[in-house]
Amino acid sequence: NSSLHELDPDVAAAVDAELHRQQSTLEMIASENFAPVAVMEAQGSVLTNKYAEGYPGRRYYGGCEHVDVVEQIAIDRIKALFGAEAANVQPHSGAQANAAAMFALIKPGDTILGLNLAHGGHLTHGMKINFSGKLYNVVAYHVDEQTSVVDMDEVERLAKEHRPKLIIAGWSAYPRQLDFAAFRRIADEVGAYLMVDMAHFAGLVAAGLHPNPVPHAHVVTTTTHKTLGGPRGGVILSTAELAKKINSAVFPGQQGGPLEHVIAAKAVSFKVAASEEFKERQQRTLEGARLLAERLVQPDVAEAGVSVLSGGTDVHLVLVDLRNSELDGQQAEDRLHEVGITVNRNAIPNDPRPPMVTSGLRIGTPALATRGFQAEDFREVADIIAEALKPSYDVAALRVRVTALAEKHPLYTGLK
Ligand code: PLP
Repeated sequence: NSSLHELDPDVAAAVDAELHRQQSTLEMIASENFAPVAVMEAQGSVLTNKYAEGYPGRRYYGGCEHVDVVEQIAIDRIKALFGAEAANVQPHSGAQANAAAMFALIKPGDTILGLNLAHGGHLTHGMKINFSGKLYNVVAYHVDEQTSVVDMDEVERLAKEHRPKLIIAGWSAYPRQLDFAAFRRIADEVGAYLMVDMAHFAGLVAAGLHPNPVPHAHVVTTTTHKTLGGPRGGVILSTAELAKKINSAVFPGQQGGPLEHVIAAKAVSFKVAASEEFKERQQRTLEGARLLAERLVQPDVAEAGVSVLSGGTDVHLVLVDLRNSELDGQQAEDRLHEVGITVNRNAIPNDPRPPMVTSGLRIGTPALATRGFQAEDFREVADIIAEALKPSYDVAALRVRVTALAEKHPLYTGLK
């Protein structure tokens, strides 16, 4: 019954250091967030001990009466949140949710149509050495070179030419909204399933601030830890008709025992996501991203060769184009790290630099919105980023401004 500090001081020290890092720096990785303490409490609970292969009421193990309650609450809450007919809350991650959904809908060798990785798609949407690229015949659509917006004419042309069995709409790095109705029309025209991967923007959808893909898609997958703000994990939403196929593709198709402690944490986060406070937070997330984009298109930044892909954003992230800057993606990421802001470098469409270097940055606002950032704080952080990306910048001065923001919005004050 020893505590972590008593039993394993080495791991405890690293966990403490990570808490301090999260508290003292500004987290702007677009796919990250801060889970509420109650979510972490559920995730750290005794439910971690329980085997529960199967689904509520139909388990392959005894003693599941309490985890059944937890899993059913999670299912009911997420169905209500997104207006879905069926939900599977067991996928251990977003990648596993996508794998299970694809296993349920299509066969190896079938053709899939997804957004190219370098144009904002995810690994599981058909990248060559991912399972999706190895098992399926991949055709990729792109963003338009001039506008950086998904080219729906190309989607339609490729769908008609290659007749995919599955079309995937969704992204990991894209600053605009997709037209789900148009995707569904094209899918219907060629007899394909439409799967929407809303991992990045699910929180915005839950808050009613982004179109909901559920009425348009056969299947919608998501992670629970990005804008949705819950524990790391995945979920699959579907029509009632497809529910059986999806369930059997998750278990026993993909996974063994579900992580009931994580499912409990998911349930708690879905409760939070249905609240007014969550909606207000998502509004600040969007406002923060818009203010950041507005700052990064000002003449002083343009002079440093920095610009914003598509000229702005409709979502929780901004894609910075560094093709004309003296900084590459790696250098820009390092420079922001130096002043205390964490972001990730990101390939941009038609990137002249290799994937480990890149010519772009992906900067997101969900974690800072969760921390309580208001418009004035987002203006300040946008200005810090703008100054840091210029050829002459003052690390010490910028670091002081970052620290002031971090101290203004303390994080996890109850944790040691
Ligand atoms: N789908 C999209 C669109 C993503 O951006 C991600 C994660 O970055 C995933 C799926 C995979 O989620 P995970 O990292 O939980 O496997």
